[in-house]
Amino acid sequence: MPSDSGIERIYQQVVRRNPGEAEFHQAVKEVIETLGPVLAKHPAYAEHKIIERICEPERQIIFRVPWQDDRGEVQINRGFRVQFNSVLGPYKGGLRFHPSVYLGIVKFLGFEQIFKNALTGMPIGGAKGGSDFDPKGRSDGEVMRFCQSLMTELHRHLGEYTDVPAGDIGVGAREIGYLFGQYKRMTNRYESAVLTGKSPHWGGSLVRREATGYGTVYFVDEMLKARGESIEGKTCIVSGSGNVAIYAIEKLQQLGGRVIACSDSNGVILHERGIDLALVKRLKEVERRRIADYAHEHRDAKYLAGSRIWDIPCDIALPCATQNELDEASARTLVGNGCRTIAEGANMPTTPGGVRVFQEARIAFGPGKAANAGGVATSALEMQQNASRDTWSFEHTEQRLQTIMQGIHRNCHEAAAEFGSPGNYVLGANIAGFRRVAEAMLAMGVI
Ligand code: NDP
Repeated sequence: MPSDSGIERIYQQVVRRNPGEAEFHQAVKEVIETLGPVLAKHPAYAEHKIIERICEPERQIIFRVPWQDDRGEVQINRGFRVQFNSVLGPYKGGLRFHPSVYLGIVKFLGFEQIFKNALTGMPIGGAKGGSDFDPKGRSDGEVMRFCQSLMTELHRHLGEYTDVPAGDIGVGAREIGYLFGQYKRMTNRYESAVLTGKSPHWGGSLVRREATGYGTVYFVDEMLKARGESIEGKTCIVSGSGNVAIYAIEKLQQLGGRVIACSDSNGVILHERGIDLALVKRLKEVERRRIADYAHEHRDAKYLAGSRIWDIPCDIALPCATQNELDEASARTLVGNGCRTIAEGANMPTTPGGVRVFQEARIAFGPGKAANAGGVATSALEMQQNASRDTWSFEHTEQRLQTIMQGIHRNCHEAAAEFGSPGNYVLGANIAGFRRVAEAMLAMGVI
C-alpha cells in the first residue's frame, strides 16, 4: 500500500500530468493526503491503483461555442464537460458559466463531485462542466443563443443513463430552461431526467432551488447538535448572495439564527438588525442587480465596498460564494473573533491554510463535499420523480433532504471516529466518500 511517500508520488504524478491546473491539484491533495489510514486498512485499494484511477477522468470534452450577440457580432466561448467517474451511476454535476472557467476549475469541481455524490448514498457518478461565458450584463436573448449553441454540441454526450448536468455559478432556472429546450429539439425526446434544476412547472423538483443552502444549514444543525448546541440565537454571516447563499440565509433565519451580513464579488452588506431576505431575493433573483443596492433601500445597513466579510464577528460563518474565498488570515480573524462553526456552502471556498487554522482551533468545520451535498442529493430526487413520472410535495421533498443530510453527517462523524480523528469532518467526508467509490471500482474490475 502507498506509504505517505506513495501518496506523495501519486500527487506528483497528478501535477505532472495536469500542468497549470492549480485548483485541480489543490482538490486532489486535500483528498488523498487524508487517505493513508483507509489504505492501511484496505490494502486492495492500493494494489488495484484505485487512487491513481480516480484521479484520471474517464472522459474530458472541450468544444467551441460560437454565438451571435445582440449587435450581430460573433462571439466565441469554450465549453467543457469532464465526465470523471461513473462507477456509482450516470455522471452528475453542474455547469458553471463564469469568465474564470478553464479546465483546471472544471476538473477540481468534477473530482470533488465524485466523493460528494458518493456521500449522498444515491446512484450518481461525478462530473462537472461549464464555459468561460459571462452571463452578467447579457440580455435574455444572448443567454438563450449561447445556451442553444452549447447544447448543440453537448447533447451528444448526455442522456438520463449517461450524464445529467445541473446548475452552478451563473446557471440557474433560466439557463436550465434554454438548455433543456435545445436538448429536446436536437433529440426529439422529452427526456426529463437529462437535466436537473428544471422549473417545477415542467418536471423540476420542489426544493431543488432551496436544497444546497437548506442542506448546508441542516449540516450545521447536526454539527451543533453533536456538541449539544443549536442555531437558535446565534449570529451568522453568509458570503455571496446567489442561489446557495440566499437559501442558506432563509433556513438559518427559520431556525432562529440572526444573519447580519452577505456579499457579492464587489462588496459586503452589514445589517445588524438582520438581513432583509425578501429584498435580497428581489435584487438578485428578480432584478439581477448588485448587493450594493440593498443599502439604498435600508438606510441603517452598511455597504462595505471591496471588504472581506470574514472581518465581521459572528458565531457561525458560511462561505457560499466561490473557491478559495476564505484564506488563512481570514480564518484566523474568524477564530479570533469567536466564530466556532463553519460550513462550506460553496465548493472548496477555504484554502488549505484556512482549513488548518480551523482544525487546530478544533471548531466545527463542515467541508463542502459533505455540507453542500444537499443540492445534488435533491437533483437525484428530481431524477427519481422524473423516472416515476411523479411529483412530490414540498414538505415530503424537504423531509427527504433533511434525512439525507443527517445521514451524511452521521457517516462523516462515524468515519472520522473509526479512523482515529473524532470530530474531523474533513477526514470523515473524504474517507466515507472514497470508500464507497473504491468498493464499487474493485467490484467492477479494471475499467
Ligand atoms: P450563483 O451564481 O447563484 O451565486 C454566486 C455568488 O457568489 C454570487 O453572489 C457571486 O457574486 C459570488 N461570487 C462568484 N464568484 C465570485 C468571486 N470570484 N469572488 C467573490 N464572489 C463571487 O452560484 P451558486 O450560489 O449556485 O454557487 C455558489 C457556490 O456554491 C459555488 O462554489 C458552487 O460551486 C457551489 N455549489 C452550488 C450548488 C448549487 O446547487 N447551486 C451545489 C453545490 C455547490 P457576483 O454576482 O458578484 O459574481
